[in-house]
Amino acid sequence: MASSVKDRIQLTPTRSCSSALPEGPWEFDAMPGYGPGSSQADPAPAHTPTNGTSRPNQLPEAYRQMEEAELHERIRSAKEALGERLVILGHFYQRDEVVQHADFVGDSFQLAQAALTKPDAQSIVFCGVHFMAETADILSSEDQQVILPNLAAGCSMADMADEDSVEEAWEEIAEFYGFDPENPEPDAEGKLPVLPVTYMNSSAALKAFCGRLGGIVCTSSNAATVLEWAFERAHRVLFFPDQHLGRNTAKAMGIALENMPMWNPRLPWGGNTADDLKQAQVLLWHGFCSVHKRFTVDQIDQAREQFPGCRVIVHPECPMPVVDAADASGSTDAIRKFVEASSPGDVIAVGTEINMVNRLAADYPDREIFCLDPVICPCSTMYRIHPGYLAWVLDSLVAGQVENRISVPEGTAVEARVALDRMLAAKPR
Ligand code: SF4
Repeated sequence: MASSVKDRIQLTPTRSCSSALPEGPWEFDAMPGYGPGSSQADPAPAHTPTNGTSRPNQLPEAYRQMEEAELHERIRSAKEALGERLVILGHFYQRDEVVQHADFVGDSFQLAQAALTKPDAQSIVFCGVHFMAETADILSSEDQQVILPNLAAGCSMADMADEDSVEEAWEEIAEFYGFDPENPEPDAEGKLPVLPVTYMNSSAALKAFCGRLGGIVCTSSNAATVLEWAFERAHRVLFFPDQHLGRNTAKAMGIALENMPMWNPRLPWGGNTADDLKQAQVLLWHGFCSVHKRFTVDQIDQAREQFPGCRVIVHPECPMPVVDAADASGSTDAIRKFVEASSPGDVIAVGTEINMVNRLAADYPDREIFCLDPVICPCSTMYRIHPGYLAWVLDSLVAGQVENRISVPEGTAVEARVALDRMLAAKPR
């Protein structure tokens, strides 16, 4: 089996979700939408805050035409020239051709923290998506610059909760529960009526919104701890953007489904009745990850039929019935540890992004590890980072030019940092 998703797409194009996947991502940079891959059918908002302010077709022609061998050679020699002044971060879901050059590989928060161990690195090149580069910028020091090789690498889930929609929803929620949206006050019990919780996969503006209003950020590893923290301080939570992570976490904490209505920002009161809202404990934003939405209970049944005794682990961004049917669920890091703890000969079906699953399979050749989804469909926005963009931003740095810097405005960064610090201080009970 070829180890790279790109190789597999080229070898078996009929088994991938888009015939355009083998093309260079620069073919799609100037187009609306997310390009080929798992998010391609999602409507992209006109102003995509997590995608940067514009989506120029910016990769110089020379880099589009270059052979991959030359791109890799350029990346290697630029890394050598920049030495300790550079750190390259690669997300678990990033393609292998890019990950091979990363100094650290991990999830978004692990990577932002890894960058902190490199204070001499003036440039942090984040091979991930826009909200991740923003978080790294918020957590890094003032004399460090964060670079996202392709500005069109956003996140369709993060884009489902834009700042305006969340602000509007908050005003409606405040009106219903009778509090000041700018300055919610605790009641006689010392609890806020509603507390906003945002998943790490959201724009810096929304992290700042949470910081400003007594709220907090969570990751897929600490969502339960964060929700416990929130319920010590509030009667209910507005959880965004991922409904599935919110629902799966709250359900595991014993919250009944009828107490977690969905908030659809396009509908009055989010599409709920007054009774729904009165009994709500968690208001779930109508967002989802297009990669994890692809996993189904049928796929789990088929895996078990084909490999009796196989174990199934899925990411908590998968729909609730999928998480319920799996043997385990957990963050990317938890999935990695689950595989690490398995034994030679074990068969493990994994419900998360194909690049990560494929890499785990290559790292543990003595086990049968495969993606639950038989169709090769990478995260379309992660896939926008191609070695061509990495070579270009690194060559530019060597030449003294900074391309695609992600810089969060200071006021936003300060407020977002408050919500991130609350998350770091939240301890499991
Ligand atoms: S895998 Fe899903 S949540 Fe992660 S970057 Fe891609 S679209 Fe966003």
